Amino acid sequence: MQKIKKGDTVQVIAGNDLGVRGEVLDVRKGYDPSRRGQPARRNPNKDRVVVAGVRMVKKHQRPVSQTRTQTGIIEFEAPIHVSNVMLVCPSCGEPTRVGIQIEDGVKHRVCKQCGATIE
Ligand SMILES: [Zn+2]
Repeated sequence: MQKIKKGDTVQVIAGNDLGVRGEVLDVRKGYDPSRRGQPARRNPNKDRVVVAGVRMVKKHQRPVSQTRTQTGIIEFEAPIHVSNVMLVCPSCGEPTRVGIQIEDGVKHRVCKQCGATIE
């Protein structure tokens, strides 16, 4: 079960955007069958999250036919590794580690600090 999901609020705990909070826009599991069994360094998109407003990068996008809507210099969030973020608990508002509890056969995420269930 994944500890960080799309729509969660997370806080960055390392790097240039240290301390910044933002919503998770995307979770990249980076599953690539052709790279199965290879070391993590060969699978650079594994276990990454895209967080709103964190690691903004600029890219020069060349116009190709009419399919590309954004061209010129575009700015967007690049993915960062899940180990560099912590989930912000919705009930206590603190960055926290996530535990998994099983209730009636259904897994729930719980806050390690206040014990609240995170939907
Ligand atoms: Zn909590």
